[in-house]
Amino acid sequence: MEKFKLLMMVSPRMGHLTQALELAKLMLARNNQLSITALIMELPIDPHGTARIQSLIAATNVEGLHFHHLPAPEDTSDWNITHRMGFTFKLLEYQKPHVREIASKTKKLSGLLIDLVSTTMIDVADELGVPTYLFFTSGAAFLGLMLHFQTLEDEQNRGISDLVEGVSHLILPSFAEPVPIGVLPAIATQKEHWSTFVLKWTRDYRRAKGIIVNTFSDLESNAMSSFSLDSYYGKTSLPPVFPVGPILNRSQIHTQSSEDYSAMMKWLDCQPKTSVVFLCFGSLASFHPDQVQEIAYGIERSGHRFLWVLRQPPANEGGFPRDYENLELALPEGFLDRTASIGKVVGWVPQLAVLSHSAVGAFVSHCGWNSTLESIFCGVPIATWPVQAEQQLNAFQLVRELGIAVEISLDYNQQKENQALVTAEQVEKGIREIMDVEIEVRIRVKEFSEKSRLATKEGGSSYFALGNLIQDICSRS
Ligand code: UDP
Ligand code: UDP
Repeated sequence: MEKFKLLMMVSPRMGHLTQALELAKLMLARNNQLSITALIMELPIDPHGTARIQSLIAATNVEGLHFHHLPAPEDTSDWNITHRMGFTFKLLEYQKPHVREIASKTKKLSGLLIDLVSTTMIDVADELGVPTYLFFTSGAAFLGLMLHFQTLEDEQNRGISDLVEGVSHLILPSFAEPVPIGVLPAIATQKEHWSTFVLKWTRDYRRAKGIIVNTFSDLESNAMSSFSLDSYYGKTSLPPVFPVGPILNRSQIHTQSSEDYSAMMKWLDCQPKTSVVFLCFGSLASFHPDQVQEIAYGIERSGHRFLWVLRQPPANEGGFPRDYENLELALPEGFLDRTASIGKVVGWVPQLAVLSHSAVGAFVSHCGWNSTLESIFCGVPIATWPVQAEQQLNAFQLVRELGIAVEISLDYNQQKENQALVTAEQVEKGIREIMDVEIEVRIRVKEFSEKSRLATKEGGSSYFALGNLIQDICSRS
């Protein structure tokens, strides 16, 4: 029998690509009539990222999953863009004719699978008369926020600045609690960013035949049920939303040397159960030297055992945080000696492996969506310290709606000018609360962990949603 062929088109961000490949693997495991070809594009301004993408592909060997490298642009000097997102946008436009050519040559193409920023490719699918499925790698509540804001703007001419004027909270259909203005993400509130990128993506989401979300129904029941009420999301009906998560990144590339990795895991093996607080702020965040000092003092004063992932700010704008050449210079004098018996400061860890370790008792996290799902899956309670993007909203959901986290900070935003330091006292208090006090939070996160595991098992809600998605794809071919 002829296979159902999908082309997968994902922007060159590791975070998007790793999750999309995990989704592809799950789909292929469920239905061997599918065949998925990932069209890989690389970001010439990011050689480090390109190397990571290449090693990810080299490490992926799954029947039915194929890779096709799109040509890299030869000269981008006249693009005049240094910002990662602007560059990605331009690169997607550059790749569009290549994608069109491949798609039109693919016999019996069943559809395109794209990520949340590659929406320009929907034009290609429409021209060829095949469906597009969009993979949204953040949560359903945030998806709802984008769709709701776009509805108000396009149908009622009410921009975000009008909505937030003179109010402290907004009632949003995908959130159970009123959302404080301070936790709205900069991508929605900064006019230029919203109208250049996000508004356009959101309009495009409605053109997809399905939106696949990395979440599970029990985690975001409010958001999921809001999608079935048309009145919240305007006149243009929404495509069906498939909550298929948690999709976890199980193929993490070890950038640590294997000796460092095994030394760290051995150290964890020697620590008592749930005694270690783990601090990690994702792949993109790094802190100002003064803030690093405050964190260090806060950890030390809490008296708890710790594993702290610390990297210095990128060398240039749009780059990635790097390991410190000399950690001692970044930390308070004598910190490493004083804490040598109870803690470790490291540059990069395979986070899922750490969170799965029984010695880890709590997670101080920036609440990136992947980190959020990983912590829930592992049943580790969170102390929230969001840094940018939609992380403040995620933190708000975790603390106020789900009760599986305590707040170190809810509305810290690295992109805000004059952002105040989070003090050592706040860090100490947050760590003590999550490690010593909040038994209820610990119990609740274990319940959600159980639910997250059940969701993807046979008969679970995400298992069911993935089946529906595959059926939808096959029935249109
Ligand atoms: N990653 C890694 N080693 C690194 C940096 C990133 O394994 O040194 C992986 C990690 O598993 C994570 C993903 O890359 O899932 C995040 O990539 P990236 O920093 O590109 O994030 P994005 O820009 O997509 O948010
Ligand atoms: N990650 C990791 N080691 C690190 C930092 C990050 O493995 O030292 C992984 C983490 O497990 C997660 C991803 O990188 O899968 C970060 O994604 P998230 O959405 O949490 O945040 P982002 O990096 O996009 O800010």
